[in-house]
Amino acid sequence: MRKLLIGMSLLFAVSINVNAKSINMGEFKLTAYCPCEECSEGYGRQTHSGKSARSNHTIAVDPDVINIGSKVKIGKTIYTAEDVGGKICGDHIDIFFDTHEEVEDFGTKHKNVKVIRKDKKKKKHKKKK
Ligand SMILES: [Zn+2]
Repeated sequence: MRKLLIGMSLLFAVSINVNAKSINMGEFKLTAYCPCEECSEGYGRQTHSGKSARSNHTIAVDPDVINIGSKVKIGKTIYTAEDVGGKICGDHIDIFFDTHEEVEDFGTKHKNVKVIRKDKKKKKHKKKK
């Protein structure tokens, strides 16, 4: 039991180190979507996370690659991973826009993506024995 506890606290320390900085995810395929029927299949602005999708804010990700709730930097904009999509798999991000015109203008791009860990506050868990 004691060994297990030591192992767990080591894991916790490592995860704090990773949380303190942004993680370069490499180049992703970027596509766009909007609330229209064609893009959202009737979901409109409703996202997987329950939040209403907003332009310059909401992106859809593969939750196996980027956690829902993560801040994601693409170019100069910091987006929030709030949505998922059936076609969004692996190194692919779908960026939310208000209109389908913007979606068509965007097309498909390839850009470098960074994930910024949102919890910069140090968690102080003092466990009593
Ligand atoms: Zn659309």
